[in-house]
Amino acid sequence: AVDAGVSCARFSRFAAKHGWSGGEFLAGVPGTMGGALAMNAGAFGSETWTLVEEVELVDRAGSFENRPAGSFAVSYRQVDIPPAHWFTAGVFRLSQGRGDEGTNVRSLLEKRSETQPIRQSSAGSVFRNPPNDYAARLIEISGLKGLRIGGAQVSMQHANFIVNDRQACAKDIETLIEKVQTAVADHTGIRLEPEVRFVGEHQ
Ligand SMILES: Cc1cc2nc3c(=O)[nH]c(=O)nc-3n(C[C@H](O)[C@H](O)[C@H](O)COP(=O)(O)OP(=O)(O)OC[C@H]3O[C@@H](n4cnc5c(N)ncnc54)[C@H](O)[C@@H]3O)c2cc1C
Repeated sequence: AVDAGVSCARFSRFAAKHGWSGGEFLAGVPGTMGGALAMNAGAFGSETWTLVEEVELVDRAGSFENRPAGSFAVSYRQVDIPPAHWFTAGVFRLSQGRGDEGTNVRSLLEKRSETQPIRQSSAGSVFRNPPNDYAARLIEISGLKGLRIGGAQVSMQHANFIVNDRQACAKDIETLIEKVQTAVADHTGIRLEPEVRFVGEHQ
């Protein structure tokens, strides 16, 4: 069982250190296990909810309840959480490892740093991958790598990342997201949907 406030990196490393396999992909996901449950965080072909057996939730009145994983509708980066409920913990089923879990964690982290702009400010992947395709591929073939609005730029390293390299404001980033969406739809006929969540109104 893992508290929702534990970081994904800590969970992943703890499991690997104790010879449990299955959580390696979470090592490079910035955030908490609560966030990973809420977003069904995933990477390298694995997803959080494939590991979940049971979760503990709290509601606004402070009542706790446990629910089995099967009682949630879960899909790609999407979990239907009952209104005004939050995850406080989860029970995860990992498998007995073969002793190479630590090495696997390190190689996934290396792969991430080779392919993603992890040293620059970003919100991670901007768009959801459409079925049987990759948002990054569609953005790249639409000629949008490096496109800039104000302080925000479509990453030269990974086209599904928008980096804030020159003090971008929220408006720069949202405008760039809309521009990429329109240009990709014009070029490929596919409308990309944001994976990031927008909070508040920009100025
Ligand atoms: C550089 C970078 C790389 C990233 N790489 C990946 C990746 O490989 N795979 C991936 O899936 N995501 C990735 N992300 C996105 C992000 O890390 C994940 O969505 C992560 O799960 C968010 O966790 P958090 O704790 O920061 O949640 P927050 O961002 O704080 O919250 C995310 C959402 O979950 C809700 N939430 C948070 N905690 C709870 C809780 N306990 N109960 C109920 N709802 C809750 C929030 O209300 C919000 O709607 C990346 C982000 C960045 C910046």
